[in-house]
Amino acid sequence: MIIILKPAATEEQRQHIIERIESLGLRPNVSVGVKRTVIGVIGPEDVVRTVPLEAFPGVESVVPILQPFKLVSREFKGEDTVVQVGNVRIGGQKVVVGAGPCAVENREMLLETASFVSKCGASLLRGGGFKPRTSPYSFQGLGEEALKYLAEAREKTGIPVVTELMDPRDISIVLKYADIVQIGMRNMSNFALLKEVGGIDKPVLLKRGNMSTIKEFLMSAEYIVSGGNFNVILCERGIRTFETATRNTQDLSAVPVIKQLSHLPIIVDPSHATGRRNLIEPISKAAIAVGADGLLLEVHPNPETAMSDGPQSLAPPQFAQLMKNLAPVARAVGREL
Ligand code: PEP
Ligand code: MN
Repeated sequence: MIIILKPAATEEQRQHIIERIESLGLRPNVSVGVKRTVIGVIGPEDVVRTVPLEAFPGVESVVPILQPFKLVSREFKGEDTVVQVGNVRIGGQKVVVGAGPCAVENREMLLETASFVSKCGASLLRGGGFKPRTSPYSFQGLGEEALKYLAEAREKTGIPVVTELMDPRDISIVLKYADIVQIGMRNMSNFALLKEVGGIDKPVLLKRGNMSTIKEFLMSAEYIVSGGNFNVILCERGIRTFETATRNTQDLSAVPVIKQLSHLPIIVDPSHATGRRNLIEPISKAAIAVGADGLLLEVHPNPETAMSDGPQSLAPPQFAQLMKNLAPVARAVGREL
């Protein structure tokens, strides 16, 4: 059971509710968010129900939830969540495209890519400054310098930027520049990091771990939301299977499954899922057809020279053509691009 407090609930009212829950022998889990406080009460429903918690001052609503993930579940909220960043709405009628390089390599390449993708209709600019690389000897990203270029690109194009946070120690730097904070697949189960971003006032793009089930994915989202940050965007980016033809296997059925289980928006990243440029278009079309709220795509001015993920990055003309080819698919399923 989840108790949502009114934004104006006082400390006294909160304490009163907590004491009452504890008097029943139950343990309340209090999450103080930027906008509101949520109290989770895990325990036998009949015990919790002995107290009419709805009647307590400061309580907005009380919701019984059967799923292990509570706040992110459809049971908790029937209508779709729309995450708003500036003028961009993720989870609404429009299929939102986030595009940009895997890593921000230098100022020129970023500004050039940002200008191009925004002219083609991308709504978000992606680009990593802190890169999670399999090898410690590979390019690790430009760090804060990259984030400054992202901020400059935002000024020039007007589109919000999404970039990855890998280490809680970098949170203030990332928050200074990012509009959306990305948690990469390697950190999907880094619960300390998830708790950190549960307490921030910016949307979080949570990528699915490549060895994670849908339930585990939603439990990770629950960590963020239970911290008080309801602005979570899920991203299916491929999982590891026995198949080796693609870098990962894009689990497209996860999209409608998650739509049934959760109210959160979900986007698809065919770049990291397939690892192959020539698969981006068919998988993007399929993703839109199964109900994805957006796409995350890697675009590089010259993929041959990319410092990371060149084989899966689209060259600018390929991206332009892709955007044209996706529009009719979006229209066919009642969306727009
Ligand atoms: C990325 O999007 O930059 C990235 C590293 O993706 P993932 O975490 O899905 O591997
Ligand atoms: Mn990449």
